[in-house]
Amino acid sequence: MPELLPVLDQEAVEKLIDETAQRISRDYADGQLVVIGVLKGAFIFMADLVRRLTIPVVIDFVGTSSYGDQTVSSGHVGLTREIGMDLRGKDVLLVEDIVDTGQTLAFLVAHIRSLGARSVKICALLDKPARRQVKVEVAYRCYEAPDAFLVGYGLDFNECYRQLSGIYRLQFNTESTP
Ligand code: 5GP
Repeated sequence: MPELLPVLDQEAVEKLIDETAQRISRDYADGQLVVIGVLKGAFIFMADLVRRLTIPVVIDFVGTSSYGDQTVSSGHVGLTREIGMDLRGKDVLLVEDIVDTGQTLAFLVAHIRSLGARSVKICALLDKPARRQVKVEVAYRCYEAPDAFLVGYGLDFNECYRQLSGIYRLQFNTESTP
């Protein structure tokens, strides 16, 4: 069984989300925002973030696949759920759990632009800039994370650990018993 090493507890995560929600509310004070969460990992972050926004928002989700049951990106991103809203002329905030290589968000930003959005910005709970392969601008980043595989607060490993209220590093024990 892999070991869970604490990175951020619930209180720390909530404080980071509070600050980020305040920034977003200030930046979009004059208009309506379309907030699109990337399934499934962003579902808890998204729920906590939108409840702290003080501006009018409409909400949708998009689904992508790239990881399967691996801890490294396959490098190929596909859509598993299309956005169900007309984005023409809209300001979009794309909410993601974690930015790793940047492939997923680069693909989604291009996709949302192609749907006619007026603007697209990224909000990520966690960012691992050390692992970036594709340039993406993360306008709102709650926390710069270490180069490790993280779980909890929506993030999974083989669909497990999403329900944890904090963020943990998953440590794989490679020692073999004699
Ligand atoms: P990227 O396309 O930036 O390489 O990867 C983005 C997606 O990979 C995230 O939405 C997330 O699903 C997954 N991912 C990247 N790093 C991690 C990690 O440390 N833990 C987990 N659970 N998922 C990750």
